[in-house]
Amino acid sequence: MDSYYDADADTGLLADKTITFIGFGNQGSAQAENIRDSGVANDRIIIANRDDRYADEAKSKGFNVEPDFSKAASLADIIFLLIPDQAQPRLFNEIIVPVLRKNATIVVASGYNVFFGLLKVPPSNNVVMVAPRMMGSSVRSLYQKGRGFPCFVSTEQDGTGDAHAIALAISKAIGATKAGAIESSVREETAMDLFAEQALWPNIIALFREGFSVLKDAGCSDEALCYEMWMSKEPAEIFEAAADDGFVQQLKRHSVVSQYGQLSGALALDGTGIREHFRNILHNQILNGKFCEKFSQIEGELELEGSANPLNQLYSRSKEMELVKAEARVRERLAQLRRDAAEGSP
Ligand code: NDP
Repeated sequence: MDSYYDADADTGLLADKTITFIGFGNQGSAQAENIRDSGVANDRIIIANRDDRYADEAKSKGFNVEPDFSKAASLADIIFLLIPDQAQPRLFNEIIVPVLRKNATIVVASGYNVFFGLLKVPPSNNVVMVAPRMMGSSVRSLYQKGRGFPCFVSTEQDGTGDAHAIALAISKAIGATKAGAIESSVREETAMDLFAEQALWPNIIALFREGFSVLKDAGCSDEALCYEMWMSKEPAEIFEAAADDGFVQQLKRHSVVSQYGQLSGALALDGTGIREHFRNILHNQILNGKFCEKFSQIEGELELEGSANPLNQLYSRSKEMELVKAEARVRERLAQLRRDAAEGSP
């Protein structure tokens, strides 16, 4: 595996390029500001955004905003696609492709649409992935502090022969090569991202749900359970310690009883069933494109209001979980306490 550092990249390659950012949201605003601060002239950067609050924000930061996506794309040597993944294929295929310059480079920050072949990119164009593993606010703040951030980089289509060098120049200009941009691929990025979302976290949610119910049945109170399990933020601290000390080594911050219980318990679980379950999700739901196909069918419905929206339906169903009901009770009691305190009642 390769990592690329500042010395591996030449931002001079960007000097004569016109760079269009499609979207000025979480990633778009951070990456555009970083690129400008890295020396790309402001008059070479175009922010393509509908005339709304994101456009106003870009203008307030001194950027040139173009509400006509087709015009903004037609002028670009490099196009960052930084709108939500589900909105990219339609905009890209219908509005950008017809006006795309022959040698333009398309930059994605997520592997999804490229891996599943949802972007119809002509063969003469470059397609690169520069995918920060951070929220946009951190991409910006770490850049401002002169520090890097974890980021995946890959060249997926090399239409011009220098796509890799352009990918590295972009990585350096957004600040990613300071800490080492990791060579990856859209397949790897998509597999890991969707696996976390569809296998790991659903199981973690289910473990908390079932653990909550077992302890509740054993007489534990709502308040005690909510604070013990997540409202104290202990799980967040554990993951932070895992990132600093090591996944297992962080256990040494816990009591000896806890260390012994956690390690002996984890090593006693053979994991065969869960491994099979995980493999099934990875291969028969994610990598074979089944999830993508299903998601593409309902994607339009995700903009509907109320119960017609499938995501809202899932949120409604989740309200039936004992854990969610108990948490609502606890939060309501806390809110009542705050209201009483504000009114000065005992
Ligand atoms: P955001 O949700 O922040 O994107 C908002 C921007 O997209 C706004 O400029 C918005 O403008 C525009 N937009 C939304 N829908 C449309 C549409 N249908 N047509 C045109 N413009 C639209 O996106 P993110 O920054 O979160 O994600 C961008 C990319 O970065 C994605 O590929 C994502 O996977 C990736 N990524 C995101 C990370 C994160 O932490 N969020 C981390 C790493 C990668 P308007 O107001 O006009 O709708």
